[in-house]
Amino acid sequence: MKVLVMNCGSSSLKYQLINMENEELLAKGIAERIGIEGSFVKHETTGKEKVLIEESMADHKVAIKFVIEALTHSQHGAIKSMDEIAAVGHRVVHGGEKFSGSIIIDAEVKTVLEECSELAPLHNPPNLMGINACQEILPNVPMVGVFDTAFHQTMPKESYMYALPYELYEKHKIRRYGFHGTSHKYVAMKAAELLGKSIEDLKLVTCHLGNGASVAAVKNGKSIDTSMGLTPLEGLVMGTRCGDMDPAIIAFWMEKEGLSIAEVNNAMNKKSGVLGLSGVSSDFRDIEEAASAGNERAQLALDVYYQRVKKYIGAYAAEMGGLDAVIFTAGLGENSTVARKEICKGLEFLGIKIDDDKNDVRGKETVVTTDDSSVKVLLIPTNEELMIARETKSLVG
Ligand code: ADP
Repeated sequence: MKVLVMNCGSSSLKYQLINMENEELLAKGIAERIGIEGSFVKHETTGKEKVLIEESMADHKVAIKFVIEALTHSQHGAIKSMDEIAAVGHRVVHGGEKFSGSIIIDAEVKTVLEECSELAPLHNPPNLMGINACQEILPNVPMVGVFDTAFHQTMPKESYMYALPYELYEKHKIRRYGFHGTSHKYVAMKAAELLGKSIEDLKLVTCHLGNGASVAAVKNGKSIDTSMGLTPLEGLVMGTRCGDMDPAIIAFWMEKEGLSIAEVNNAMNKKSGVLGLSGVSSDFRDIEEAASAGNERAQLALDVYYQRVKKYIGAYAAEMGGLDAVIFTAGLGENSTVARKEICKGLEFLGIKIDDDKNDVRGKETVVTTDDSSVKVLLIPTNEELMIARETKSLVG
């Protein structure tokens, strides 16, 4: 069974074709600048040369046509015909309170997704656009929606409610939803496998540290708390997002700088985080380099970042009443030896002992703590696409 995984943004579309008999990646690629001048598809079939297809792509439907063409191409393709695609799994950012698991997409599901667009105006509309375009091109192929929010729907009410007037929850569904659920679930399951334990018996803190970043408390296989909230702005310091702060700052900032709501929103999402603090970049590679060269603000940005992650690990250990393992994943979590080391520094009292040699590693599934560390720290590269394909297979298969 071959599953096509789709992740549609407003002007881009990432895809992977996975053979679910052996979970082998058959092909992957990205279409960029959809609807903008200079659009292209970068396609790579496993074991073949990468190709660049530069064509005008007015919308997602046209882009998907080029993707299908690339996948079925006689030279650089991975399959003979699009009939080999048994199902399509779509990443959908916001499933609101309706979806606590993945679901086969029908007209009713699409209506709910449209309703959820209010909660994720930047993400859900392009996700829906991708679903509609795929349905037009592959009308007989089942489509599955896999939600970033679904894994966190097991959070108890005390984790997801804000201490605001209760009517705001009833009227507008203002509550914590959490994101990166597919990634948190994948690495939690993988960690249990690597530790040789049942996930039912584990208390895990999963740290997804990419451009966007979030932490989750996964107790007995269920997410019981997570750092992102109604939107992906809450929680950790991120590349360009501020994460947790005193909400009174917003009004004060608007007044002092004469900003509109849209402007302050934009500044909190796009100009804050380690970019705002360091003034250097939102990319940790640049910031680590600047800090090593003596840039004090770059070092400060890293220190604030590390401390926030550490704070959540401690809080979640307290919430779960213990801790078996901490998992690092995504761009920074998988690649930065220094970030893992600094975040875990001072957590020896919890039973965490980083092994510097084992921690000197990138992008590979491994334990980075000493053998006598009672709490293990693991590096697990995330694979959201494979998780989406697995969910799709389990519903359609
Ligand atoms: P997203 O999927 O959220 O866009 P990723 O998970 O790809 O993000 O993470 C991207 C971030 O990971 C980059 O912004 C960069 O800061 C960080 N990163 C990637 N490689 C390294 C590295 N070798 N050292 C430090 N940070 C890295």
